[in-house]
Amino acid sequence: MLAQEIVKSIQSGQGSPREVVEASLKRIEQLEPQVHALIRLNPQALLEARAVEERLAKGENLPLAGVPIVIKDNICTQGLQTTCGSKMLADFVPPYNATVVEKLHQAGAVLVAKANMDEFAMGSSTEYSAFGPTRNPWDLERVPGGTSGGSAAAVAAGMVPLALGTDTGGSVRQPAALCGVYGFKPTYGRISRYGVVATASSLDQVGTMARSLQDLALLSDVVSGYDPRDSTSLEAEPRFVAALQASAKGLTIGIVKEALAMGNSPGVLEALERFRSVMEAQGARFVEVSLPTLDYALAAYYIVNTAEISSNLARYDGTLYGLRVPAEDSIATMMRSREQGFGPEVQRRILMGTFVLSSGYYQAYYGKALRARAKIKADLDAAFARADLLLTPTSPFPAFRFGEKTADPLSMYLADIDTVAINLAGVPAMSIPAGFEGHLPVGVQLIGKPLHDEQIFVAANAFEQATEGAFARVASL
Ligand code: GLN
Repeated sequence: MLAQEIVKSIQSGQGSPREVVEASLKRIEQLEPQVHALIRLNPQALLEARAVEERLAKGENLPLAGVPIVIKDNICTQGLQTTCGSKMLADFVPPYNATVVEKLHQAGAVLVAKANMDEFAMGSSTEYSAFGPTRNPWDLERVPGGTSGGSAAAVAAGMVPLALGTDTGGSVRQPAALCGVYGFKPTYGRISRYGVVATASSLDQVGTMARSLQDLALLSDVVSGYDPRDSTSLEAEPRFVAALQASAKGLTIGIVKEALAMGNSPGVLEALERFRSVMEAQGARFVEVSLPTLDYALAAYYIVNTAEISSNLARYDGTLYGLRVPAEDSIATMMRSREQGFGPEVQRRILMGTFVLSSGYYQAYYGKALRARAKIKADLDAAFARADLLLTPTSPFPAFRFGEKTADPLSMYLADIDTVAINLAGVPAMSIPAGFEGHLPVGVQLIGKPLHDEQIFVAANAFEQATEGAFARVASL
């Protein structure tokens, strides 16, 4: 069931939160052995459902009453392990909840599980989880994308209607595309990151996932908004559900020339074409726009990303947090703990980040990446002078096979070619299910002006209505 249907049935007294949560747990029990979307079930889920029933009986208004949700395992949950998909934090039990978790509780949602992810949100396939990969519900021989692959797979498999992920360079949008669900990354600062484990702080955002736009809007309204505990938080009232009332007539959508030329597979080009013709019929106007510096986005991203990772992950030193492997002295303890606690991709990024920040290379790499970042932002601003929204693929190809890209880190990084510029610029974007290549889902990406996140929902809603939601459905397993 969709979240919207669950809320309706519970509010009308037809269904109860406990029944809904039991059904979700049952579906998880059936499918989890094949999909492995989750790292840990919440043992309190049924108790939480009962608490929601009591609050409903008292007449509380709960916008997500009884809706089961999974959240990515880098979002802190009080009393429930938060591993970041890493051995380093395998036993870490947060003493507090992230702001987004508090907001979900307040809204009456029920956390059923923590979702699998690439270790510390580095990767594009969920193959880098220390707890084993997640499988794509549309094809169990293929990856679900990453790093929020567990969240996307859980929604696509119908275990839950809603999920939270995080998006540093595409980790909500790319797995959403590969699993055929909606994935939304807001403007930097619209969703609180208090209690979200940092990967690369100038890029990280929490994002929302769902199988319908109404559900995505409901969830986005609940988790967005100003948070005094996050110094990067913005004051902007969320109006996602309200945006679904607006018409797409008169919107100008810019097709990004460079993104079309980057070697997309046929199903991706077909989905873009479909999106365009459907939206034209809905009264949107299309123009071609150019982002000349888009070519530099991937290089700039992987420098900024690794630089910030090397600094953020310095805190895992075998002393303060996480795994501790005792050795002869403190330096050896630190080295041993980091060697055994972190997987190869995390180690590679710490090394790369340390290198690009070292005094001899700082200007050659990090300094240059910051200049490229400013140019990419300026390119986007120029494109937004001509269009309300921009259209690109979310990923150049649909879900790939296990092992296809793990041997060559660069080929894995190339999977992010369409998504990383958005994080460098801090603008909002959504992956919209828009077709299939064979049996594999394909998404297109709509990019919005900063703080105009709701406009993306207006356009996506017009597409969903016109196509009757044909491209976002539960995978048949
Ligand atoms: N795939 C990108 C990376 O590996 C993005 C990851 C993310 O958004 N967390 O950095």
